[in-house]
Amino acid sequence: MTKRIEFQLAATDGAARTGTIRTTRGDIRTPAFMPVGTAATVKAMMPESVAATGADILLGNTYHLMLRPTAERIARLGGLHDFMNWQGPILTDSGGFQVMSLADLRKLTEEGVAFRSHIDGSKHMLTPERSMEIQKLLGSDIVMCFDECPALPATDKAVAESMELSMRWARRSKEAFGDRPGHALFGIMQGGVTQELRGISAEKLKEIGFDGYAIGGLAVGEGQEAMFGVLDYAPAMLPEDKPRYLMGVGKPDDIVGAVARGVDMMDCVLPSRSGRTGQAWTRQGQVNIKNARHADDPRPLDEHCTCPACRNYSRAYLHHVFRAQEMISGMLLTWHNLHYYQEIMSGMRQAIAAQRFDAWQQGFHSTRAMGDIEPL
Ligand SMILES: [Zn+2]
Repeated sequence: MTKRIEFQLAATDGAARTGTIRTTRGDIRTPAFMPVGTAATVKAMMPESVAATGADILLGNTYHLMLRPTAERIARLGGLHDFMNWQGPILTDSGGFQVMSLADLRKLTEEGVAFRSHIDGSKHMLTPERSMEIQKLLGSDIVMCFDECPALPATDKAVAESMELSMRWARRSKEAFGDRPGHALFGIMQGGVTQELRGISAEKLKEIGFDGYAIGGLAVGEGQEAMFGVLDYAPAMLPEDKPRYLMGVGKPDDIVGAVARGVDMMDCVLPSRSGRTGQAWTRQGQVNIKNARHADDPRPLDEHCTCPACRNYSRAYLHHVFRAQEMISGMLLTWHNLHYYQEIMSGMRQAIAAQRFDAWQQGFHSTRAMGDIEPL
């Protein structure tokens, strides 16, 4: 394993890009959507089913895994890939975002974040160095810098101080990561919705030098308009020859808008979480399978979709198993949602390569605007 992770840009159309991230565990076609495997599983899915939807890479959560079953135990059992039976690339987050949103009794200092586990109240400390150690124990292919993300809205002063702290942590992360051939370290840009701060953050990250760059601190409640406002300038502040990753995004139209603005990678729990609450994302918008209108409907969720939920089951069945709280409900809807997300990604990759991304976007938006099929 001496090979470096490489990014090859194949084509651009406007600001949108398509290419390939080559890793020792396989290629990641970009733009890429990464399903979230929080606790070493994409909930309700077998790994081979996740692969069948077209996913090239999964995301794992450092915060959850360090608490249970612990990174040390996963390392003893051969690393996260073997543990969860996913041999493709894995990206792990740094734990920074989740420790601030999930942990109890947090205390933020220059050193890092001390906190108590939300599971059993046990005491822990996450620092840039500890985050790098955990992600190494997990065997992650793409490691994220430890950063701090302020909840918006926040004052400019608070956003600036938080960004500066994250940049100091980025340098410590790089030093702790060291030289690990075959593994990549991504820096994370912060700076809220302020262009000047985003620019400062980008310059500091480039000075340190990373294998890829994430745009952090978005999708935290600022709304799509404000997010797109940042994405109108932020991706261009980052190196053109490295992958750009927008963290925690999003709904299908967020993803399309982000790719149109130059983003290469995204992740979100939305398709899998929605699948467990009876929500389906389709080409014609959202469908709530709980709704009584589906009870006698023999038609598939989406007649053009080739996923197992749409090929083999009716809306009436999906409605019934949701109401009856059968496990297959979450399995089928999650499969459909992940399949649909990957279909959007492959559609965008092909359209960008063929220089017809504008036309593809028009089709995407007009089909969504039609809304769900009429009730029978
Ligand atoms: Zn489907």
